[in-house]
Amino acid sequence: MEPTLRNFIGGQWVTSSATDWLDQPNPATGKPLGRVPLSGQRDVDDAVSAAREAFGKWREVPPVQRARYLFKLKHLLDLHFEEIARIVTEENGKTLDESRGSLRRGIENVEHACGIPTMMMGDTLEDVSSGIDCEFVRQPIGVFAAITPYNFPAMVPLWFYPYAIATGNTFVLKPSEQVPRSQVRIFELMQEAGIPPGVVNLVHGGKDAVNALLRHPGIAGISFVGSSNVARHVYRTAAEHGKRVQALGGAKNHIVVMPDADIDRAVNVASESVFGCAGQRCLAGSVIVGTGNSYDRLRDGLLGAATGLRVGYGMEDGVTMGPVVSRAHRERVLDYIESGVSEGAELALDGRGVAVKEYPGGNFIGPTIFESVDQEMKIGREEIFGPVATVARAESLDDAILTVQKSEYANAVSIFTTSGRSAREFRYRVGVSMIGVNIGVAAPMAFFPFGGTKGSFFGDLKAHGKDAVEFYTDKKVVISRWT
Ligand code: NAD
Repeated sequence: MEPTLRNFIGGQWVTSSATDWLDQPNPATGKPLGRVPLSGQRDVDDAVSAAREAFGKWREVPPVQRARYLFKLKHLLDLHFEEIARIVTEENGKTLDESRGSLRRGIENVEHACGIPTMMMGDTLEDVSSGIDCEFVRQPIGVFAAITPYNFPAMVPLWFYPYAIATGNTFVLKPSEQVPRSQVRIFELMQEAGIPPGVVNLVHGGKDAVNALLRHPGIAGISFVGSSNVARHVYRTAAEHGKRVQALGGAKNHIVVMPDADIDRAVNVASESVFGCAGQRCLAGSVIVGTGNSYDRLRDGLLGAATGLRVGYGMEDGVTMGPVVSRAHRERVLDYIESGVSEGAELALDGRGVAVKEYPGGNFIGPTIFESVDQEMKIGREEIFGPVATVARAESLDDAILTVQKSEYANAVSIFTTSGRSAREFRYRVGVSMIGVNIGVAAPMAFFPFGGTKGSFFGDLKAHGKDAVEFYTDKKVVISRWT
């Protein structure tokens, strides 16, 4: 039998008290990778107790010393970079290059959090009144938790715990039950880095573990990344239980191509944006908007680029698009394609029949392109999260901006243009949080904030950047007079 994963609580790998497990197959080969326990309240209680117990001592470790653990972790992550990237491909399905890229982005958060002695500084003003000084210091708050999605198994959790522990909090991670293995390896490395017991804890599970975290009185704040429906539930429930919350949700991202753009370049970049990671990125382009006379060249170019992709097992050289994560998700994406057809959209490229001979059990879907999609249709409104693109028409920049604004999501958006004026107008008015100008994927940069708006984000402080320090600390103001 394949191994059953264990939780990491109080510095020990412990067997979950779960009575239910999930089998985890490799999404490309179908080969079993092992079983994931679906932990419940008891395991969450144990993890929170361990984290609370560790908090008192950890917050007293000087920030400069806390940062040293992160320097060690960064060194170990570099040393095991290739091994972790391979685990990501094995459990998630994305190509090895995609896994490497995302892991590099994740590690940048560890690097950034190493600067915590500077980032955590407060402020002082002498003589707020005669002989009276005022200052504020940032203090850690307690135990934080993160609940993360399947599409970036190594990177997304790294958006959170490096900052949470650098600022002196302790932590519980509930990774996606679909892709828990890369985090298991990273937690082993945190253990090797000597991070004291209880400072970081890992609980495997699904919604029962999530709901236990959201209601737990011992948790001060929750970071969530996943679909919008769950993000909304997490935001409401955790807030109702008195916690800080940041909940990053789903997306339906537009790429607007102006007639003055370098269309060949726009086509290549848009194709990578749409089909990279088999469309399973919250920053993936989903609707490619050809403005004015750019439409035909854009559609033809995209069709050409899509047919040139090689679908297969992401571990193999030359494969440019892996499978989607699971059988169930494959069915969901196929249902979306079916609904597009039945609602009258035009299927310009149909990826439903694509199979990979060597891996008949893989969850493959070929690149798929729709035209004539109305924004009222199901595929026009909802996030598909698969290798399915729509090519749409807009008369003008104004018209393209209106199309973007009709979406209930507002995570990322891009414009391709050679006009600084159009680019400026677009970023000024479009109302989406992450904007690419001649960039297909407005990638997460550790030192900048990350998160959308409207139906793509619930909360105020975003992930990483300076917001992370705000989220994980409380500002204490001290006003003093010494006579
Ligand atoms: P998901 O919402 O299904 O799951 C995310 C997490 O929530 C998992 O840990 C899961 O165990 C838990 N969960 C699932 N259903 C739950 C429920 N009913 N109650 C409580 N907890 C529940 O998301 P996913 O399928 O793993 O990931 C894909 C989604 O994540 C997409 O919508 C994508 O756009 C989004 N995403 C957003 C960002 C961002 O930065 N905004 C980044 C990555 C992914």
